[in-house]
Formats: sequence, C-alpha cells, structure tokens
Amino acid sequence: MTAIETTEMSLSEIESLALSVFTKHGCSADNAAALARTVVRAERDGSLSHGLFRVPGYIASLNSGKVKGDATPKIEQSLASVITVDGDHGYAPLALETGLPVLAKAASETGIAVMRIINSFHFAAMWPETEYLAEQGLAGLACTAFKPSVAPAGATQAFFGTNPLSFAWPRPGHTPIVFDMATSTLAKGDVQIAARDGHAVPPGTGLGPDGQPSDDPAEILKGVLLPFGGYKGSAIALMVEFLAAGMTGDNFSYEAGQQDNNDGGPAKGGEFVLAMSPKLIAGDGWQEHNEAFIQTLSELDGIRLPGQRRHKNRLDMGPRHINAALVEKIRGLL
Ligand code: NDP
Repeated sequence: MTAIETTEMSLSEIESLALSVFTKHGCSADNAAALARTVVRAERDGSLSHGLFRVPGYIASLNSGKVKGDATPKIEQSLASVITVDGDHGYAPLALETGLPVLAKAASETGIAVMRIINSFHFAAMWPETEYLAEQGLAGLACTAFKPSVAPAGATQAFFGTNPLSFAWPRPGHTPIVFDMATSTLAKGDVQIAARDGHAVPPGTGLGPDGQPSDDPAEILKGVLLPFGGYKGSAIALMVEFLAAGMTGDNFSYEAGQQDNNDGGPAKGGEFVLAMSPKLIAGDGWQEHNEAFIQTLSELDGIRLPGQRRHKNRLDMGPRHINAALVEKIRGLL
C-alpha cells in the first residue's frame, strides 16, 4: 500500500485555515468562528471524517446558496422543558452554541429538557453537544437524520440517513463517558476516506450498485450503506428518523433527499437533543452509584470506554498530520 502524503499543521494553524476559508466564502464572524471551532475540535480528537475533510462540502453549500453563512439562530422556549432553535438556514454549530446553555439550564431546573434545532445543516460529529451537557452534570442524547444513504434491514435501496446518535454520561471530577456513532456500519465520511486512500472496508459496510455485498468503498458509494447489526441497527436508525424529524418537525431523510441540491454539502434537517439531570431524577447518591458501576465495568479484561480514544488524542497538543491533497484543496479555496 502506498503511504499517504501528509502536511504537518498545529491546531492553531488548522483553526485559522478553517476560519479564513469560511470567512472568505461569506460566513459572518460568529458563524465562521463556530464552524472553525467544530473543525479544530474534530482534528484535535481524531474525528477525521468530520474535521477539515468536511470543509470543501461546507464551502460548496455556501457557494451554491443552499446554506446561509450569515445565519442568525433564533431561540424560543415554548415550555419550561422545550426549547426550539431556528437555525435560519445556517450551519448547526452556531445554532448549537446558541441553544445548549439554555437547554442545560432548563434541564438543571426541571430535571429533563429537550431542544429541537430546525432549519439547520449538520455536517459534523455529535459528541460536542452531548459532551457539553455531561460537563454541566447532565446526561445528553443527540441525533440527526441526513438524506437517504442506508438501506433499512431487508431492503437494498437507500432510505435512512447515516443517522448518528450520541450519548454522554456525566462524571463530575472525571472525563464524561461519550459515545457517538453513525447507525450505518461505517460513517459515510469514513467510506469516502477509504475510497480516497484506497483501503477496503469491513464486510457488512454496504452493497455495490448491483445490490451485492462489497468491500470496495468506491462501489459502495455508488450503491448503498448498511445499518450496523442488521435489523437491530435498522431499528435504531428508524428511531433517529422519528426523533430528529418526527419530533422536531424538520425533514425525514427521504424528504431531505427530495429537497437537496446535491452540492456535496449537508442536507437540511432537524437535530434532537435531550438533557437529563441524574441529580434531580435519581437523587442523592447518583454519582457514587454510577461511579461504582463504571469502576466495575472498567476492570473487565479488554475494556475501553467509548470516548477514551478521543480524550487521549485530545491530550496531545502537538501538530496533526493532515492529508496533503486535502490541505492543498482547502488552501486553493482561499
Ligand atoms: P466509530 O465507529 O468510530 O465510533 C463509535 C463510538 O464507539 C465512538 O464513541 C467510539 O469512541 C466508540 N468505540 C469505538 N471503538 C470502541 C471500543 N473498542 N470500545 C468501546 N468503544 C469504542 O464512529 P462512526 O464511524 O460510527 O461515526 C463517526 C462520526 O461520524 C461520529 O462522530 C458521528 O457523529 C459522525 N456522523 C455525522 C453525521 C452527520 O450527519 N452529521 C452522519 C453520520 C456520522 P472513540 O471516539 O473514543 O473511539
């Protein structure tokens, strides 16, 4: 296998490259800064399919006019525990930064609160939103739909999005436990990266255009992804459709697919974010009870907790090695 050429960049160089390119393509200062923070956090933690890799897609949707770079999210709290953020047809990071503190406050007061983000475009990892809630002492759950990319169990035709789901559990004094996963066997970004870098993908990732299982990512991108774990993952993807679209009132994946201009960027959709306070719901002793559980789990042979890989990567403040062709492509957008 030929080595992939990389360019060494510090985290601040990554953030300033992202900031410059978003600003150049029409983002207002607050949108550009929120997007650049999203990109640098992904590169810092090793969420490679959702960092700089996504920048050309973000720019394509700004340039096609599908996404507003100067969007101003508007927040409304219609009930004590229901918060709506209208993303004003901008990217999700600024809508999330607008709504999350309000959601955390509501859940900390009422025990449970939900935020729906509508009229927004999500193209990123979802752990930042649930991890933020866990850092406020709350359990967080977030999900969004996409556009048809995954065949429901039994079908060979794309209908569900890759429908990521993230959950975080608070551990005051410790790093929270966070998982964040596509409900497809592999995230589409990882299949695109495998196609770019010439790697095969694991069995069960998808079907080629002939409807037959394939380990060739280029063929799967012409065909369809599969849900993880057969009908069980398919049921979770179905739940994400109901929460992210049915419950927010924004697009189901199939509706997003009908509307989207296929410019290479994300499709318009909703995001569902739930925050729950174990302190108010479980009451006294919740932390000791849960820490004992986590301790016992951690002692099992072969265990690593979800989020541990990212949190370890985060401790490394050194330069990152970014695909050189990608860096050139992004610099070419300046
Ligand atoms: P992975 O399969 O890489 O990881 C899923 C989760 O499992 C992570 O939380 C990971 O923790 C954890 N994990 C991995 N290996 C182990 C292990 N051996 N033991 C315990 N836990 C483990 O993620 P995906 O490829 O499914 O998704 C990648 C990203 O793509 C996600 O961030 C998702 O939000 C994003 N995405 C975004 C979409 C959008 O529309 N915005 C669409 C689809 C996906 P760790 O991080 O520590 O490795």
